[in-house]
Amino acid sequence: MRASKYLTATVKETPADAVVISHKLMLRAGMIRKVASGLYTWLPLGLRVLQKVEKIIREEMNRAGAHEVLMPCVQPAELWKESGRWDEMGPLMLHLKDRHERDFVFGPTHEEVITDLVRNEITSYKQLPINFYQIQTKFRDEFRPRFGVMRTREFIMKDAYSFHIDAQSLQQEYDNMYATYCRIFDRLGLDYRPVLADTGAIGGNASHEFQVLAESGEDYIAFSDSSDYAANIELAEAIMPESEREPAKQELTLVDTPDAKTIAQLVDQFDLPIEKTVKTLVVEADESVEGGLIALIIRGDHELNELKAEKLAKVKSPLTMADENSIRAVVGAGPGSLGPLNLPIPFIVDRTVTKMSDFGAGANIEDKHYFGINWGRDLEYTDVADIRNIVEGDPSPCGSGKILIKKGIEVGHVFQLGDKYSKSMNATVLDQNGKAQTLSMGCYGIGVTRIVAAAIEQNHDENGIVWPEPMTPFHIGIVPLNAHKSPEVMETAEQIYQQLTDAGFDVYLDDRDKKTSPGVKFADMELIGIPHRLVISDKGLEEGIVEYKHRSNAEKENISVTDVVAKLK
Ligand code: ATP
Ligand code: MG
Ligand code: MG
Ligand code: MG
Repeated sequence: MRASKYLTATVKETPADAVVISHKLMLRAGMIRKVASGLYTWLPLGLRVLQKVEKIIREEMNRAGAHEVLMPCVQPAELWKESGRWDEMGPLMLHLKDRHERDFVFGPTHEEVITDLVRNEITSYKQLPINFYQIQTKFRDEFRPRFGVMRTREFIMKDAYSFHIDAQSLQQEYDNMYATYCRIFDRLGLDYRPVLADTGAIGGNASHEFQVLAESGEDYIAFSDSSDYAANIELAEAIMPESEREPAKQELTLVDTPDAKTIAQLVDQFDLPIEKTVKTLVVEADESVEGGLIALIIRGDHELNELKAEKLAKVKSPLTMADENSIRAVVGAGPGSLGPLNLPIPFIVDRTVTKMSDFGAGANIEDKHYFGINWGRDLEYTDVADIRNIVEGDPSPCGSGKILIKKGIEVGHVFQLGDKYSKSMNATVLDQNGKAQTLSMGCYGIGVTRIVAAAIEQNHDENGIVWPEPMTPFHIGIVPLNAHKSPEVMETAEQIYQQLTDAGFDVYLDDRDKKTSPGVKFADMELIGIPHRLVISDKGLEEGIVEYKHRSNAEKENISVTDVVAKLK
């Protein structure tokens, strides 16, 4: 690719609304542009990376024996009514009406459509097992799209669905997909962990998430410090022995515009054992926090942590901050905006609380987020890991070692669904005895667009992105110095460009004219994250050499012009 004919849309300034590093760098490197909240255009540079990710996923899914299909984004309401999810999905699902006033949705996922296909096409156990996948656009009307392409409303997912005659066959394919996911994330060069995941209403021990470890992750992973045990923290709690779990299981009723008084009443209503183990505090944020915050902290009987109180010095009295370790739940009222959260007014707590840590509120004070929003998964927002019931140092639920907590970005999820969809949608095949059998089903998702952001979270430095080789948009960058004065420099650059391109490399030749200084070209190449850089200069050519530098290595190396291709191969 010649830079003079390419959209090199690099930006020097850090965009104001970007919080996490991958979002900042993707905007600055010219990979993406925002169209509206949670909607992005992928520019040529970003799309190159995305397509490399897709290619690896496709190769490994094909290798694993899955068959690629392409289902429509827009799906008829009837299928969702049949499965029972029409009412379940809530505002996450985008509803559409066609010109005849018929109901449709923009698919947030495709279990219904694939189950419908399979019940029509597959009739005999002899056609099983079978696994279909697609790489396709999903739409989820996320409450709060954020972090660039990490949590968007429109995103690309690889979703696969397998069908089986029995649970044993499902388990085999689940293991196959698990191994395939490991190969995919290994090939992508990500530092990830498979972790046990919550199976929600379906139950069982048959779901794993693939989590890329990163500070900006929205999930909390509980690791054992002395075994392979790793679980999404909700699950870690769910499988803890009953005796070690928080006993509280309170009903929380709907609250309108809660103020301090209402909140106090709420506590009574929860019937929390306040006198014994819980104290209540009302925290009001001062005017520096837009909109302010009223929060109630229900905490254990620890003494207050004075240090934390100091950190919150900007907040008006009555102010006290609970010891983070003792926080068990936070009920909040956000009149206006909670820092960047922009919660609607009022912040209505309207769900049944099954775990004390299921709900909460947050404040953004001095660029630091204090309390946690954990109102269902989609509102998760906290810097205080131990706002949950599980804290570091707790005994691991696996029985071996103590808990370590790390943050992760969910890039993949495998799930044994069993007969959840096949039963409600009546998907059966005939077995050996000619008897109708309900199918067993597994589903397997990968966040294709999210992976690009997750990779950057793990691979960057102060100058920009440092691409893992398999994802990089360009392998090699060439900078011809003062080419406008020296035709020989440009000629050699063109020759090397051609040789490397012919050898199968993606090459970026920065042939922009003298208005773009060498300094800017070097900076752009670092920002974009191209792993290998060649600089061609008059001086070097006099000695028959070009300068080579690796993106993550400060040292430069001279290599002979004739050796360039061999050296980079
Ligand atoms: P999350 O917990 O992050 O909301 P999820 O559990 O709702 O994700 P799944 O239904 O398991 O997501 O979908 C499969 C994959 O799709 C996820 O593992 C994730 O990588 C990706 N994904 C889900 N929601 C989004 C989104 N809003 N933006 C980008 N990728 C997403
Ligand atoms: Mg989600
Ligand atoms: Mg999830
Ligand atoms: Mg998931």
